[in-house]
Amino acid sequence: MSFSYEAKLELCREPVQRLCCARAEAYGILLYCNTFSATEIRIITGNPEFAARLPRLFHRAFNLRFDRLPEPDQEGKLVFQITDERKLHRIVDLLGYAPKQNLVLHINFGMLEEECCRASFLRGVFLAGGSATDPQKRYHLELATSHLQVSREMDVLLQELGFSPKSVLRNSYHVTYFKQSEHIEDFLTLIGAPVAAMAVMSAKVEKGLRNSVNRRLNCDNANLDKAVEAAQEQMEAIRKLTAAGQIEQLSDKLQQTAAMRLEFPELALSELAEEFDPPITKSCLNHRLRKLMELAERL
Ligand SMILES: [Zn+2]
Repeated sequence: MSFSYEAKLELCREPVQRLCCARAEAYGILLYCNTFSATEIRIITGNPEFAARLPRLFHRAFNLRFDRLPEPDQEGKLVFQITDERKLHRIVDLLGYAPKQNLVLHINFGMLEEECCRASFLRGVFLAGGSATDPQKRYHLELATSHLQVSREMDVLLQELGFSPKSVLRNSYHVTYFKQSEHIEDFLTLIGAPVAAMAVMSAKVEKGLRNSVNRRLNCDNANLDKAVEAAQEQMEAIRKLTAAGQIEQLSDKLQQTAAMRLEFPELALSELAEEFDPPITKSCLNHRLRKLMELAERL
């Protein structure tokens, strides 16, 4: 099941209640569905939950039935249609358009004055024309309509709500989209899909965690490699000094340092410094080891 599909299932669990919101949601669906003209409404979906919601929603919103419904138990593309002139007039009238108006569609903001209605409207928009990518892959949510004016006004509406959408024309569809994960979370929460919003959040947390673990592992490995390499060079120098009989002639401190390095070849400088009795500082140890290496080089 795709992420979009699951988000839409979640949205469809929201009961159809207040008249104002039912109308606003149906309005969003109409502006983002397949056909909304003066002669025909056609909504096509492959989502059975959305298909089950449509007749209830339109009955509540406009008190009418679809002229064409999918067969019960039908699968695949489900088609809903209204062609009856009186029904179309009724819908156009209730949405605040003049009946004979050439339906150059725009968003009637009068329908969206209440906060509850704006959220319902956007839910309808997403159900009919929206999709969201699996957040494990990338962050992307988009709303696609065939009406240019609607998409322009959608951008304005979303900006008013604090989103910063982008738009693009794709296959004669006007697409409004956003890619910031926070905006996708907020949008899904607003329209009534908090579970989907949580999935975006947790994908982000997981991703962040994975990245920081990887960064630390890489960093640790690099440091470890360096430390091992340095210890090997130091031991090589000490062996040379020993083989040349020089060790016994060094100061007690240098002799002790050489012995400690040979005893604890795996320890990093700071750890080795603490093994001394009494412990010495890392820079002191570093200084002594350099001295040993210099002496070995002079041989
Ligand atoms: Zn409302």
